[in-house]
Amino acid sequence: MQSALQRTLRKTNFSKFLSTTSKIIFKREDSQKDGIKYNSIPTHPPRPDFTAYENPLHQLSQTVVYDGAPDDPYKPSSTPLYQTSTFSQPDATSFGKYDYTRSGNPTRTALEKQMAMLEGARAGFAFTSGMAALASMTRLLEAGEEMLVCDDVYGGMWRLLNKVTNRQGIKHRFVDTSDVNAVVAALRPNTRLVHVETPSNPMMKITDLKALSKALRPLGVMLSVDATMMSPMMMRPLDLGVDIVVHSGTKFISGHADAMGGIMLTRDPEIEQTIAFFQNAEGSALAPFDCWLFLRGIKTLALRVERQCSNAKKVAKFCMEHDAITKIYWPGKEMIGHPKSGISDEQINIHCQQTTLFEDDGGCSLISFCTGSEAVSKKFVEACKILKITVSFGSCNSLVELPTAMSHASIDPELCQVPKDLVRISIGIEDVRDIIKDLEQALKIATASVVENAAVSVAENDENESGRYDSKFEELPRTPEPPPLTK
Ligand code: PLP
Repeated sequence: MQSALQRTLRKTNFSKFLSTTSKIIFKREDSQKDGIKYNSIPTHPPRPDFTAYENPLHQLSQTVVYDGAPDDPYKPSSTPLYQTSTFSQPDATSFGKYDYTRSGNPTRTALEKQMAMLEGARAGFAFTSGMAALASMTRLLEAGEEMLVCDDVYGGMWRLLNKVTNRQGIKHRFVDTSDVNAVVAALRPNTRLVHVETPSNPMMKITDLKALSKALRPLGVMLSVDATMMSPMMMRPLDLGVDIVVHSGTKFISGHADAMGGIMLTRDPEIEQTIAFFQNAEGSALAPFDCWLFLRGIKTLALRVERQCSNAKKVAKFCMEHDAITKIYWPGKEMIGHPKSGISDEQINIHCQQTTLFEDDGGCSLISFCTGSEAVSKKFVEACKILKITVSFGSCNSLVELPTAMSHASIDPELCQVPKDLVRISIGIEDVRDIIKDLEQALKIATASVVENAAVSVAENDENESGRYDSKFEELPRTPEPPPLTK
């Protein structure tokens, strides 16, 4: 099953074109050979091919041992920021290595190469947001073709499928992808792509990527995974047979809640060419400065994820022991056989096998849990002082949210499978004792608040007016006004 674009690119012998354009200068006449039209050139420069690339270093070292600008004569320690929209051409009919930042920019190439290296991809693409990356992925389908999507998908993806791509004739159905047989049974002749999140957000459903890709590959159906929750540090889905990996880089890759972006990775040359074409044609690529921020974020990615996950493990243990928490959704080994686990042991075992950071311990830095009462959960969220109430996750700060009211509010409430009392916490890199203390005091307030005439209230327990540890300093004394100037 090939799209019209893929067929055109094949006909024009695109790979031959790529192999003849590895030099810095591209003569425009070259692109006329083999009948290739300027418009069918996906992007400049031709994307680096990582298929045969071998890096002897461990993945954790690859985050820091990386030269994003190997050709720079000044040998900078940090990848330079090419904050430019255009690049001068050698003459009117030749291209330089880069011509226009929408098509390609050296800072973006550096980020795309590093992400491709970390994921073992042939090519990477950086987009303006995770949603832009996911929207570009849907360009692989034509009107009338269908996507099967995991039934606990991120709210923004739900909105894209139900309010945007449906208008372009792309069909979709939701399916429980944790059951590989159910996915295969749901396939139709027009099913082109199966899209999953594992763990899913926020219910932490697990999809067996190896088993699913094994089932789909012979049928010519592509498999994509939104691996945002794992980051490249915890899972390498392409090694498990997945065709497309997407990350909202806004989360762990940025890591500091200061930049938005999305990354898409693949090993398939046809997918690569199609995505390259649409990224350039639609102008959805990430701006150089944000690419630079992501490159900086990647340098501490391994450290952050390691710390966040080890903190999360301790927080999960605290949740297991706390009476006010009735159900926990966290796929770590410690949850196996635990009565409060909302994930089956089989699912946790699959997750442990397909994650890479802590041998077979699984886990992740997000924990969802229920309290049995929407009012208690809401009160809890609002009573946290260190954990900030925000959507998103993966930041070095710990965060808390109510998915049905926040990150997943775009899902039609009648169709939303997320319980209203579900709280999602994203664990940061703070001292875990402070995180646990904060959770403890917030749970105390939340549970007391539902008892009539509760003795403890949020206001009473406040450290300051808002109760949060935001950096609000007393205004400094004003410098006395100088006396008026006299002659
Ligand atoms: N995928 C997942 C799992 C997400 O949680 C999000 C955002 O929260 C996205 C994709 C969208 O990413 P962005 O907000 O960068 O567009």
